[in-house]
Amino acid sequence: MNYTYDDQNVFAKILRGEIPNKTFLETEYALAFEDIAPQAPIHILVIPKGPYVNYDHFANAASDEEIVGFTRAIGQVCEKLGVQPSHDGMGYRAIANTGDAGVQEVPHLHIHILSGRVLGRMIPKGS
Ligand code: AMP
Repeated sequence: MNYTYDDQNVFAKILRGEIPNKTFLETEYALAFEDIAPQAPIHILVIPKGPYVNYDHFANAASDEEIVGFTRAIGQVCEKLGVQPSHDGMGYRAIANTGDAGVQEVPHLHIHILSGRVLGRMIPKGS
């Protein structure tokens, strides 16, 4: 693992309060906010507060507390959205785009939580 975190990325600036965001939920370990260009009626981004480039960086380098705290925050976001199937929610998709193949635009780990409609196939056939 050899990652260099760019602290000038847009989500780092959001975490430092240098640019605004529409906060949905905040915990000690995570910030959840509305995606600026929503791809579904519900489109929330959940980011860890620590400087992690992507999911494998986070999974390998973050502390147990950060991993638990971030994962719990995702659970809290789903609960606040009311999308959990266990509570009659309609379900959701959680996506972590990573690197070139994943077409990741912002080099700070973020989990997209998408819902509000049936989202279709994960990857369109033939793409
Ligand atoms: P990804 O391709 O997974 O890196 O997605 C980055 C996401 O960040 C896209 O869905 C963008 O619409 C979103 N995004 C970029 N800048 C902002 C911003 N300032 N506030 C909220 N969402 C943003």
